[in-house]
Amino acid sequence: MQAEVRFYAELRDFLAPARRSGHVSHAFREPGSVKDVIESYGVPHTEVEVILVNGQSVDFSYQVVDGDRISVYPVFESFDVSQLVRVRPRPLREVRFVLDVHLGTLARRLRLLGFDCHYERDASDDDLVAISTTQRRILLTRDLGLLKRKVITHGTFVRATDPHEQVREIMRRFQLAGSIAPFTRCLACNGSLEAVAKADVAHCLPPMTRQLYHEFHRCRDCRKTYWRGAHHERLVAMVAEAIEACPDAAGAAPRLATGEGRSR
Ligand SMILES: [Zn+2]
Repeated sequence: MQAEVRFYAELRDFLAPARRSGHVSHAFREPGSVKDVIESYGVPHTEVEVILVNGQSVDFSYQVVDGDRISVYPVFESFDVSQLVRVRPRPLREVRFVLDVHLGTLARRLRLLGFDCHYERDASDDDLVAISTTQRRILLTRDLGLLKRKVITHGTFVRATDPHEQVREIMRRFQLAGSIAPFTRCLACNGSLEAVAKADVAHCLPPMTRQLYHEFHRCRDCRKTYWRGAHHERLVAMVAEAIEACPDAAGAAPRLATGEGRSR
């Protein structure tokens, strides 16, 4: 038995070099799910948004039969697919992430932009899967094996290796420009920041800081204190760059709340 499979757009990046045209003749003896067929060519199901079989949209459980023509499309960024059955029942309402152990820098940079990023340096693969599914967080990883696990419904393969480029990639992929809230989240622990009176934190500030700065924010969770310290300009530049990278950046109105300093 044979089915013709076409992978579109960036899904081709996952195919072996000889198949980069995106067209595959899939020979098989036993019927199987379209999810398994897609993943057998290296494309994680989390990257797939719409599957058409003989022109009709299907979900991952569809059983492939002889003669099927299968078209596999990635997450669409810019055109309307509301007429089609998406393979996932509904998008996550609020964009929240869990990042694998190799993406610590990306986690801090996304937190800088205000995005909720769960990151633990020593999290196991099982931990990441559990956090993604129970807390409904989008798994960001460069581990394809992890994305192929069936229980992961929202996950993304991070293509870039440079953290700077990774931020741009995630911003574009999830169209985050309008959701940016820079300097509202703790870079160290992901907690949210609140404004505090200088008198409340003065006792734990270095003398020069106490003299030079008057506005402070504190993490509600780990109590780390932030102010517009020496790194502030670099962080502001990083935020501006991330916003510019987004096609939908025109409507973004970042709220620059505070800067960054050292710990309590
Ligand atoms: Zn914190």
